[in-house]
Amino acid sequence: MAFDLTGKTVIIVGGAGYIGAHVCKAIADHGGIPVTFDNFSSGHEHAVKWGPFETVDLRDKASTLEAFKKYKTAHSVVHLASSIEVGIGEKDPSGFYENNVIGAFNLLEAMRELALTNLIFSSTCATYGETDQMPLLESQVQNPFSVYGKTKLAIEHMIQSYHNAYGLAYITLRYFNASGADSSGLIGEEHDPETHLIPIALAAAAGLRGKMKIFGTDYDTPDGTCIRDYIHVSDIAGAHICGLKAFANGLKSTEVNIGTGQGVSNLEILQMIETVTGLPVAYDAAPRRAGDLTRLYADPERAKEVLGFTAKHSNLENIIQTAWTFHRGVWNLK
Ligand code: UDP
Repeated sequence: MAFDLTGKTVIIVGGAGYIGAHVCKAIADHGGIPVTFDNFSSGHEHAVKWGPFETVDLRDKASTLEAFKKYKTAHSVVHLASSIEVGIGEKDPSGFYENNVIGAFNLLEAMRELALTNLIFSSTCATYGETDQMPLLESQVQNPFSVYGKTKLAIEHMIQSYHNAYGLAYITLRYFNASGADSSGLIGEEHDPETHLIPIALAAAAGLRGKMKIFGTDYDTPDGTCIRDYIHVSDIAGAHICGLKAFANGLKSTEVNIGTGQGVSNLEILQMIETVTGLPVAYDAAPRRAGDLTRLYADPERAKEVLGFTAKHSNLENIIQTAWTFHRGVWNLK
């Protein structure tokens, strides 16, 4: 146990979700007490295994404050609760702005009222927007293309303002593509509806759905499909532990990419799934999905310098293998 959180409470807003459950486990593994705040809009009760739970809907300012009051001596707050599906955000921006921006505002107000000063915020590479400047540096101009990215950038700006005016200490983690599952097989990616490439392709390999669609095969990339940087969810959880340690060492504000630096195309993902599962993935080429960017991969150096973070679990085979093990359990496959 490299960093000891014994006796420290950390509030995990969105702790019942995919990344949140892995963060809770990592905090418990380091001796801390993860308190999950969630409304189960996309998280799962069965994913809350490592600490107390409170029903909290961030859109309700008064009840959010009441929940925070119960844990007003918490060491830190991790904010992961948000609407994330890029395509849905394009069709229903109202729900995205309400859930993400108003929700984050209510969270920041509760923290301000209670003088809770340490916040780790899950932002995204989607805040950068379309650019040929790869790998992406944190200094890159942020000009998000999707509603999802726009809501996350608005929250980044709010957090910076609260830092400047009220002394909030924060670490904004700009995740690239969260993927894989905990090695225990107990927790993993379970969105409903599922919109993400890897679980959809695994379901296609398992014969649980018909042909999948690959959105866009005419992008300006070597095989014509989009390129993303897949980071194992256990590495993302580890980045949060690095962040809590950085707070303990006096860090007051930073924005860092959480990625591997490796770009992988959608078809390369399908190939690795075929290799790991030994099963074919049937797909049709489909039109581009609104909101998608051509390529996104991180420069991971700043996370290493500022947080001492490097990815350890993110080779693509391990990502697919752990996701496959988790989904085989969920789907009751032999
Ligand atoms: N994608 C796809 N078919 C699907 C789901 C996703 O071709 O059924 C593509 C999507 O258009 C993007 C990439 O896979 O190019 C990664 O999408 P995902 O939703 O997994 O993550 P995002 O990058 O949007 O956060």
